[in-house]
Amino acid sequence: MARIRDDLRALSGYHSPQVDVRVRLNTNEAPFAPPPTFSSSLAERLGAVEWNRYPDRAASALRSRLAELHSVPTEWVLVANGSNEVLQSILLAFGGNGRRAVVFEPGYQMHAQIARNTGTRVETIERNDEMLIDIDAARASLSAGEPAVVFVTSPNNPTGRSEPRDTVRALIEQAGEHLIVIDEAYVQFSDTDLLDLLSEDAPVIVTRTFSKTWGMAGLRLGYAIASAELIGALELVTLPYHVDSAKQIAGELALDFVAEMDARVNETVAERERLRARLIELGVDVGPSDANFLLIDTGSRSAGQVWEGLVERGVLVRDCSGWPGLAGRLRVTVGSPPENDAFLTALEEVLR
Ligand code: PMP
Repeated sequence: MARIRDDLRALSGYHSPQVDVRVRLNTNEAPFAPPPTFSSSLAERLGAVEWNRYPDRAASALRSRLAELHSVPTEWVLVANGSNEVLQSILLAFGGNGRRAVVFEPGYQMHAQIARNTGTRVETIERNDEMLIDIDAARASLSAGEPAVVFVTSPNNPTGRSEPRDTVRALIEQAGEHLIVIDEAYVQFSDTDLLDLLSEDAPVIVTRTFSKTWGMAGLRLGYAIASAELIGALELVTLPYHVDSAKQIAGELALDFVAEMDARVNETVAERERLRARLIELGVDVGPSDANFLLIDTGSRSAGQVWEGLVERGVLVRDCSGWPGLAGRLRVTVGSPPENDAFLTALEEVLR
């Protein structure tokens, strides 16, 4: 039997349980598909692809459109197969043996998981009572020790809050040779974006994805924005032609629909607030959110039983109650209005 790496043997992969139900509110996907003209134009353009040829290795057209969208030079953009792949490239280039990843818990579990996969030591810092970064603890960690990749997720998954700009700025000011990664997978649902913290010499990488706001989780497209020097470092560890021709075309085409996607994001934000207001009316403990999901506290009820009760009624949410610092918590993705109503009805029944 081939022997797996010792440090991986004890680990289990990251899985969101998939159950076949009517209403799936467990993986923070968009409830809407891209506009119909996106799909028809894409089909047409795919017909013209020279499939016998490798794709444009530099993905120049897509990168330059993204650069234009964010008003940065093309050399400041790297595209990849989902933002998870971007995170992996970051850890391949800046993590590894003798280096550490600093994560704030509760947080997005893949940061720690990818760190371990790449042989990077994981250092965990607990969030404060407001579920935000404890800046003193973070500073203490940065002032000592091996080079670190510090993961700031804003808005954070699964707590939903954006990180105050001053907190992130303070981390950057103290970064020195450490790298600060700002994971902005959900940023379009929030009022705060931290892109302006990037600069030529700041040790900062911002990551984004098409999976949430763009309604394109099936496309697997994400990207990094950072100085040309940092992007160059990530390019050292990406595989040749890693972003295929179809994805490059689809990503570029999606950028013709910014206004439509913005309108959909606004609808999701309005639905999030409606959902939260109704949950509060029902007496459910639910915090504010700057993302497309809400974290609810099932209080005296067992989170596992509430989760099961919802599944029996055809509604799947994410049970986070086993994650560090999240006892009793369920995360529910904001869906379409009928999906949210189905969730509310099911929850009311379960809590009754
Ligand atoms: N970052 C965060 C905070 C996420 O929640 C997710 C998706 N669950 C990702 C990154 C990865 O997104 P993708 O690989 O689909 O771009």
